[in-house]
Amino acid sequence: MLIIVTALSVFAEGKDGNTMEKAIDKKNMDTSVKPGDNFYDYVNGSWIKTHPIPPEYSQYGAFTILYEENQEKLQTLIKKVSAEENAAKGSVAQKIRDFYNSGMNTEAVEKLGVKPIQKQLNEIDNLKSKEDVVAFLATMQRMGMAPVFNFFSGADQRNSTMEIANLYQGGLGLPDVDYYLNEDETSAKLRDAYIDHLTRMFVLKGEKQKQAEKSAKAVINFETKLAKTSFTRLEQRDPVKNYNKMTLSELNETAPGFEWNLYFKTLGLENPGDINVSQVKFFKGLSDLMDETDLETWKAYLTWNLLDASANYLSEDFVKQNFEFYGKTLSGQQEMQPRWKRVLGVVSNGLGEALGQLYVEEYFPASSKERMVTLVNNLRAAFGDRIKQLDWMTEETKGKALEKLAAITVKIGYPDKWRDYSKLEIIPENYFSNVIAAREFSFNRDLNKIGKPVDKTEWGMTPQTVNAYYNPSNNEIVFPAAILQPPFFNPDADDAVNYGAIGVVIGHEMTHGFDDQGRQYDKDGNLNDWWTDEDAKRFKEKTDKLVTLYDNYIVLDSLHVNGSLTLGENIADLGGLNISYEAYQKSLNGEMPKEIDGFTAAQRFYLGYAQVWRQNIRPKEMARRLKTDVHSPGEARVNVPPFNIDAFIEAFAVKDGDRLFIPEDERAYIW
Ligand SMILES: [Zn+2]
Repeated sequence: MLIIVTALSVFAEGKDGNTMEKAIDKKNMDTSVKPGDNFYDYVNGSWIKTHPIPPEYSQYGAFTILYEENQEKLQTLIKKVSAEENAAKGSVAQKIRDFYNSGMNTEAVEKLGVKPIQKQLNEIDNLKSKEDVVAFLATMQRMGMAPVFNFFSGADQRNSTMEIANLYQGGLGLPDVDYYLNEDETSAKLRDAYIDHLTRMFVLKGEKQKQAEKSAKAVINFETKLAKTSFTRLEQRDPVKNYNKMTLSELNETAPGFEWNLYFKTLGLENPGDINVSQVKFFKGLSDLMDETDLETWKAYLTWNLLDASANYLSEDFVKQNFEFYGKTLSGQQEMQPRWKRVLGVVSNGLGEALGQLYVEEYFPASSKERMVTLVNNLRAAFGDRIKQLDWMTEETKGKALEKLAAITVKIGYPDKWRDYSKLEIIPENYFSNVIAAREFSFNRDLNKIGKPVDKTEWGMTPQTVNAYYNPSNNEIVFPAAILQPPFFNPDADDAVNYGAIGVVIGHEMTHGFDDQGRQYDKDGNLNDWWTDEDAKRFKEKTDKLVTLYDNYIVLDSLHVNGSLTLGENIADLGGLNISYEAYQKSLNGEMPKEIDGFTAAQRFYLGYAQVWRQNIRPKEMARRLKTDVHSPGEARVNVPPFNIDAFIEAFAVKDGDRLFIPEDERAYIW
């Protein structure tokens, strides 16, 4: 599977376009705070006070603002396309137009109510045996739903040029295993709220209250059993543990309780070839569950999965109930996003590259690509120099690391080859069927890859996504067009700020190739250990320090960051800062720029970094993310890594006694 690792957020200003805002604006800072006591508040304190979270968001930061601007751009594009009444049937314009308009036609959606899924509901009612259950589960997966587990195509982690089938644990309605198993009061309350949500959904579907309550209990009991046999998020971070390639007959031996032959046949893949069974423990557990789970429980569970995966595209009562739980209760959102934004998101997902093509034609200047290429080259050179100078790594491993660095592929802006949507049929009158058609299209595309060579030109994100990623099996870093705009990448800002913002993002993604997960892949993207034992041991000692620093970081009341869960991202942040700062220094050729607004260039580099991560976040959302997100909260991303770096400590005169000061022997020096 693609291990997609991300770098989100941004500092967006000048939204009205009239006033050119400064790259670093003092009015956003709180200079009454000492940088060494709380660098995050020092840089962002005033911004945080003056930017409350709008009701429709669970968090609001520089990233959200850019996302908002992007949605407006995309809506402009869609409206333009929608005005083309004569768009030829089957053309991309017709598909975008009809998909969007069918979603905005609330009258038609309301009239249909639960009808779009009535056929599937009846089929579930008529299931007669375990075999029927397995076949229907596969049918649902063909519709892009994911009851019990996930199926997808991905590069073979030890033979990265080939696509193979992957099975991956799943099937939980709550965000994480912990939510089912933890015994604290908050977790227990959330479980009660979940049962209430399940009950209400069953009632909306047409069950009587008593029956609905029974169905809800059956679902949570079954999911709790799935949770107990699942890997934790931490266990999922180990690429070797999650790589278990086997044939269909080996899978039948490993998990004999599940009718795998029937499953793959129904999926449309009678001979799957090699299968990566990501979590053997989970699929063995599932095999046992097949025997001990009665048909009524299966029916309730599959019905719930159908309702859950459909709710957002059915009538308003379903949409609202879905929001009550997943938006309000779990994330603290107060209001739903307006419908146009939600529909836009669905179209942007289903017809991602079609919309992306229009997006880059309108909003992505060729000059941005050229400047990015230069920046990436500078960062790569700086990283190479740093590797050569490492005092903790043997020459042998350094050589391999340099080879891997040189082999990193770079993708900027948009794919060279656009996805072909000609086989996807979109109709004007039925939103739900369009959603399913798009999902089936995507599923079939994935299915067809299995057993074939990996198409390394493909993109894992659309150009309109405000994000970036490193993909270990392609050994590539990817920067969609949407992240290459101000203020991440600001043609009008001084270099110090740009290196602190987009430069660190580039360095962050490069470092992912050398974090605790990425370092296990070789230059060709295969899980293949190229480290000497001695180097691996030293690396572990260094990263253990980073784990401790983050474990000790308290964000909310007594809630602290999980240093082990976020380790890969934290290594990438620290590496990104070091590499980009070095690249910036080299670009100066020894000439230090003048101060701007009283800040030195070194200071502006770190200010540029810190303002990218400013955000307000609701306590519920923070609690959810601390459990589930592999990224540390913005505040910790600003308040931990720089305090390990000499250049920062010097730039802001941080001293022993300052609240965030880290004694030298506790600092992490890695890349
Ligand atoms: Zn990342």
